[in-house]
Amino acid sequence: MLRALIPLRQRFGCLFSSSGRRKAYTPPPPCLRVSPTISQLSKRCAHVQPAMSPGADGAVPSFDISKKFGNFDLVRRFKLDFSDVEVSKWKSRTTGLTVVHLDYEAPIVNGYFVVATEIFDDSGCPHTLEHLVFMGSEQYKYKGIIDHLANRGFSNGTNAWTDTDHTAYTVSTAGEQGFLQLLPIYLDHILYPTLTKAGFVTEVHHINGEGHDSGVVYSEMQGRENTSGDLMALKMQRLLNPPGSAYRSETGGLMEALRVLTIEQIRQYHGTYYVPHNISLIVCGKLSSGTTSLLKLIEEQVEPRIADHGQNQGVKPPGWKRPFVETKSAERTGIKENVKETVEFPEKDESVGEVMINYMGPKPNAFLERNALDILSTYLTSSPVAPLNKEYIETESPLCTYIYFGEDTHATYVDLPVYVGSVPTEHIDTFGERLRSSFKRIAENGFDMERMSMVINRDERQFRSKLESDKGDTFSGSVMTDFLYGKEDASELLPAMDEINYYNILKKWTNAEWVDLLQKYYIDPPSVTVIGKPSADMADKLETDEKVRIAAQKEKLSPQGLWQKAKELEDAKAEHDKPIPDHILTAFPVPDVKSISWITVKSVQESGKGRAPAKFEADPELVRHVGKDGEELPFFVQYDHVQSDFVTIHAFFSLADLPNRLRPYLSVYLASFFSLPIKRSTGEELSHEEVVNRLDDETVSYEANLGTAIPSGFPELLRVSIKTEVGMYEKAVAWLKDLLYGSQFDKERVQVTVAKILQSLPELKRDGNTVLTSFYTDLLYNESSSTRAGALLAQMEFIPKIAQQLQESPEAVTNDFEELRKYIIEPSGIRFSVSGNILGLRKPRDVWRKHFGSAISEMPLAPIKLTSESLSDVGKNPVERAVIVSLPTIESSFVMQTTKGIQGFAHPEYPALRVAMEVLNATESYLWRYIRGSGLAYGAYVSADIESGFISFSLYRSSNVIQGFEQAAKVVRGLVDGSIELPLTTIDAAKSSIVYGVAKAVSTASRAAAVSFSNQALKGLPQDSNVKLLEKYQAVTKDDVLASLKKYFLSLFDASSSVAVIATAPGKVDSISEDLSKLGFQVEKRTLQVDPEDMEDVMDVDGSESGSEESEENDDSR
Ligand SMILES: [Zn+2]
Repeated sequence: MLRALIPLRQRFGCLFSSSGRRKAYTPPPPCLRVSPTISQLSKRCAHVQPAMSPGADGAVPSFDISKKFGNFDLVRRFKLDFSDVEVSKWKSRTTGLTVVHLDYEAPIVNGYFVVATEIFDDSGCPHTLEHLVFMGSEQYKYKGIIDHLANRGFSNGTNAWTDTDHTAYTVSTAGEQGFLQLLPIYLDHILYPTLTKAGFVTEVHHINGEGHDSGVVYSEMQGRENTSGDLMALKMQRLLNPPGSAYRSETGGLMEALRVLTIEQIRQYHGTYYVPHNISLIVCGKLSSGTTSLLKLIEEQVEPRIADHGQNQGVKPPGWKRPFVETKSAERTGIKENVKETVEFPEKDESVGEVMINYMGPKPNAFLERNALDILSTYLTSSPVAPLNKEYIETESPLCTYIYFGEDTHATYVDLPVYVGSVPTEHIDTFGERLRSSFKRIAENGFDMERMSMVINRDERQFRSKLESDKGDTFSGSVMTDFLYGKEDASELLPAMDEINYYNILKKWTNAEWVDLLQKYYIDPPSVTVIGKPSADMADKLETDEKVRIAAQKEKLSPQGLWQKAKELEDAKAEHDKPIPDHILTAFPVPDVKSISWITVKSVQESGKGRAPAKFEADPELVRHVGKDGEELPFFVQYDHVQSDFVTIHAFFSLADLPNRLRPYLSVYLASFFSLPIKRSTGEELSHEEVVNRLDDETVSYEANLGTAIPSGFPELLRVSIKTEVGMYEKAVAWLKDLLYGSQFDKERVQVTVAKILQSLPELKRDGNTVLTSFYTDLLYNESSSTRAGALLAQMEFIPKIAQQLQESPEAVTNDFEELRKYIIEPSGIRFSVSGNILGLRKPRDVWRKHFGSAISEMPLAPIKLTSESLSDVGKNPVERAVIVSLPTIESSFVMQTTKGIQGFAHPEYPALRVAMEVLNATESYLWRYIRGSGLAYGAYVSADIESGFISFSLYRSSNVIQGFEQAAKVVRGLVDGSIELPLTTIDAAKSSIVYGVAKAVSTASRAAAVSFSNQALKGLPQDSNVKLLEKYQAVTKDDVLASLKKYFLSLFDASSSVAVIATAPGKVDSISEDLSKLGFQVEKRTLQVDPEDMEDVMDVDGSESGSEESEENDDSR
């Protein structure tokens, strides 16, 4: 479930930037019930499955700490030889509870509490249970109390996800105090949740007074079940696993199963699987008194409760079968013959479909082979010159937009799925055969061993870089997998984490060994293919069927029954609304902010010769170090030193003076930035393949995008970032220069990029959030906005046009790109940043003179253009407008409603506004309770964009937009007029939760350095201004919060001072439109034109009113 707030993806920046990180085209793994953040985590477990040097057996090294602690026996303890992470795994001999501590220095402590959840049907018990755990426990019988306490303990609340084989509950805190206080309370929820009927009604499923099905889980699955990803994944699960296997199940719950599920079924499921011997507590981070403080806490505060429930039955009670490993699910027979099946998914644009092919992988504990397979997939797909990309994507008529190799760990053997996106419909049927013949050809021709060596080295550099920022948390996925599938003596845990030794083995592999691997897994054995075919008929049918079903449901219930249903829901809500007594909250002490250790960043900003000096104090040591390296530069460079093995250079270029007609070109420019042929300053000419190969060989990662990444903002700046090892610093600077000044806008290369983007448009048009963001940007910003020019609507017009122009007058296109470059490299708009181990650089400053000295002359620095300078008339005066976009691929709705807010980075009213937002947004706080808690939406939150000067309210996957609005408005009005209470404990929790946010934002060396740069160079604030703000937040009073709500948030829910953009299913457009009109909005209905036969239609969409048909409909509905 998504318990975290969802940022509007691609709010800033362009849809089509380019990056040299591994596996840039990554679709989310389709089997998760969760947020984008969580799917990253799941990807992490798939990737970090390393091996160890042969011969080692992971034996326990001798440590002086005893092998017993109270009830706990040490199962295994070891330290990795390539990092400072110490791992120990313990098991309680009385309750069977598993505890794993990954011990390392870090300001944030992370917990993952994992339950193996095997189920043999599609009822969704694991997923619904996951939601119900947060509805209160035996000792804490209040809905959401766990999050109120978590917020007080310097956390941003709890979270959880459910996969096919496990549910994981998570919490992160700044510092250890809050974590240890929270742990026993969290476990009381997991082990002994209340599981009430009322909780089921609001959180899982109910029928509302209008006869519609709703509930948090129901809405969530409604938003997923008929997406191509879910439909194809479920089909694949059924094809791969025999009847009787739990791997066939939709653990999220199919809608029709959720409609008949009962709380009794869930209680029974909980009783069987949520038992201490089936739970592992994984804790990552520093505990000042070591692992023993954790074990002691569990023994004293958790295990007695387990004993009270008679669950202290040892490590393996009689009759217990380890899920998946000792049940029928383990009987995976493998893939006996080639199977190919087609699944239709609803989509009006039938031009492209998707393909998923699954191969049978090695055993889960074959770490060497699994890591080799990961490297193999990187070799095949990691860059524009990788063999599969070259053949399928980097052509003028691409056969797909990405090929992604995944890995799903299961008992018996791992699955090796390959996801292929945006395949032209005429090729989807034969794609699998074609891919296999490509594999054969690669095997016959042999591997390019030079490139293979580069791929392995680069992978290792990226792993080390990830380890530096995430530390032990890098391994949380491996530890979870080991709990589910590893040997019970944990002898496979070290082999699962010993990644660096594994690279060393693979570096010695010969061509023949790689060919054998490809042959063994992808060429010789049969595979299972699922084809996802877009169907306009299905889109219509789903809509009609749902209308018919609801009508029948209403009729069957009769007005009396509907009244009954409405009352049931009201009663359930009333039961939850019991206030939490203050003394329970205040009994949980708020930790001391001083207990958090901040990462030190040493900074010096050199604004450039002849320019006004930096207004902030620089670090003397760094000033000396940089100062002794040659003379002052004629341009802007800021150095931010942190402890690291790496250094990252960023270049920021102003787009303020760029002619608006050139802004749409930015997407193509960014997407092709690292894969154009270049002429180097040395005179050397490199083909695009040489550029990609050498860049990959010499860097850790590279990226070109609009705006800053951490924290996100400033999309009117174009950014290029290159990360390297310290020793490669000068190479990075030289690359930057040549990529900017020396790239050749080669017609074929530009054509390839344009074709790729063109083909990815249908998939983007299916995504509710992307569509919402695009219409939102279109409404509120004018044509001088680079974000708007890069968003979906503008690109749908621009990309076909440039494709045509490339055919008719390619030199005109080249000239446009040359003109674009001329504006980008205009010296007055350039700012450079160097972050990382600067004290370790011999020549931090002079390399810039060497490479850029002649290109950038001395001149005044232009101010930074903010998004507030690109507002449309509606953006300047956001009143009474509503845009509803009809989108056949979604069943729920996405909403963004906006009013004027505060603008500027040092606004005196910001601290009160920030606390007010947290009061509304916090997990289990007002918006959560009134909207998510009533099943009206999966997510609801307010946000402030202080660069543009907007305050917004968003609904994510909403089942009922109008009620969502109304509830949010009711909350704000009620708080302002005093009819809804605002307890001081809520304000305290909001402030503590902000502490977590601030700490998290600077929790790694690279984040801390990025924030230092953004504060000083872009926002004009002191380096530590966000930490300093903590004091201002603490000083915010209840009156301040109420004043802020009154001043800024009342207007947000008033049509006369706000605008709304909504993306929704076609069937809901009319009713939403009618209701919005009643609220005082002037409603405009829009659609995305999707006839691939006639791109002219597509080009009419942007800026124009929707078709006349819709307008008439609109009139009717009024
Ligand atoms: Zn969920």
